[in-house]
Amino acid sequence: MPTLDALWTRFDAAVKELAALEHIDAVAGWDQETYMPPKGAEARGEARAVLRGVAHEKLTRPELGEWIATLEASPELDSSRRAAVRAVKRDRDRELKLPARLVKELAQAQGRGVEAWKVARREDRFEHFRPALERLIALKREQADALGHAGERYDPLLDASEPGMTTARLQPVLERLRAGLVPLVEQLTASPPPAEDAFLRADAWDVDTQFDFSLELIRGLGFDLEAGRLDRSAHPFCSGLAPTDVRLTTRLFRDDGASAIFSALHEAGHGLYEQGLPASPAGTARYASMGLHESQSRLWENFVGRSQDYWVFWFPRLQARFPAALAGVDVDRWVGAINRVRRSLIRVEADEVTYNLHILVRFELELAIVRGELPAAELPGAWRDAYERVLGIRPPDDRDGVLQDIHWAWGEFGYFPTYSIGNMYAATLMAGAERALPTLWDDVARGELAPLRDWLRAHVHRHGRALDADTIVTNATGSGLTEVDLLAHLRRKFGAR
Ligand SMILES: [Zn+2]
Repeated sequence: MPTLDALWTRFDAAVKELAALEHIDAVAGWDQETYMPPKGAEARGEARAVLRGVAHEKLTRPELGEWIATLEASPELDSSRRAAVRAVKRDRDRELKLPARLVKELAQAQGRGVEAWKVARREDRFEHFRPALERLIALKREQADALGHAGERYDPLLDASEPGMTTARLQPVLERLRAGLVPLVEQLTASPPPAEDAFLRADAWDVDTQFDFSLELIRGLGFDLEAGRLDRSAHPFCSGLAPTDVRLTTRLFRDDGASAIFSALHEAGHGLYEQGLPASPAGTARYASMGLHESQSRLWENFVGRSQDYWVFWFPRLQARFPAALAGVDVDRWVGAINRVRRSLIRVEADEVTYNLHILVRFELELAIVRGELPAAELPGAWRDAYERVLGIRPPDDRDGVLQDIHWAWGEFGYFPTYSIGNMYAATLMAGAERALPTLWDDVARGELAPLRDWLRAHVHRHGRALDADTIVTNATGSGLTEVDLLAHLRRKFGAR
């Protein structure tokens, strides 16, 4: 019998090997969304499928299972190593349930799905995307059944993004969130303030200057540009290859002065989490859940980035970059403009108040899709009906309707709710940070963001996935997933207007 330390060394080396394969797959994925030419899609899909097949074999090989079992059964294993073993066991158990054939087919279907979605969206032609989507839905339903569930096929898909979360637990929280949001949206849109934000949509926002200002903003957050970079893509995202290599993307429009700023703050919030993750042990050196990941982006984008205090420091710098676009605009008008509440079609452009209603539509539809109650062919119509019912607005086409998000093309079902989970965690974490840091907002107004960033590093980032998301938030603040703090924040910020 090898000693416990020798066994741990073998286990840890095997996990590092898996992390290396994931690292290369993430590079391939990042390149696919940024610089890869369109005709490269098929070859890239095949290459990534092979890579994932290799990772699948390594994760499911019997020796790793034996090491995990022996390490788990050793009472002298310390808590940090124990957490790493538990996390890898979870990955392995999920993977063992998936046949290699299904893993490869899913990777190929995802590659084709993304390419079909790009064309369908450009041409506003859902039918072009439908066959790839139908294939993805069939494979995801097969995946859910292979993973196992107690009658709710959506649960194993949700659990993939949000470990431990179930439909039964999440649905009532989202229902209470909806019940709180609908009257607030009614109130705020019944007598909208006069339009004073036309300057945001003037054809006056040089995209290269926006890019440079985005870099200045994310550097101000403390995002390390020696350990990350910012590029352009159709759909902004963050990909953490390692804490020392975090890739962010943004998109820029000449006639939109705000979207690039909030994209950059959002993705840099994700990026700060990735840069703050522990380097070891490899088994826990990654994010705890997508909801917790999203809480970090929302916290910087909305709670900090859309606050008056943040712009006390940053507005003069923005104005110096865009003197023509912001001629005659002061900080109050800017802050009012970036916080307008309106019923709109596009999720990623939505304000803080209506945003979660966009998520509730997607949650409702994808739950029906996964349950087999809604065929893909009926999705565009169901989408329009749901928007009319939940947001009070009907999309005129599919480009700004069902084709607006890339997620389903990636085969991501069970992912959308993590955005609302993130908003709720962000509100709860922000309330906790305010209690712990009495001068937080004075610091923000001086451009001093290190105290908040360090509090998040200490209470959220450094744990990696040694603890589950709900435990991390509960330890940091005293409460786990709840709609209460988010509704209190929104009522306080918007309700009095
Ligand atoms: Zn995000």
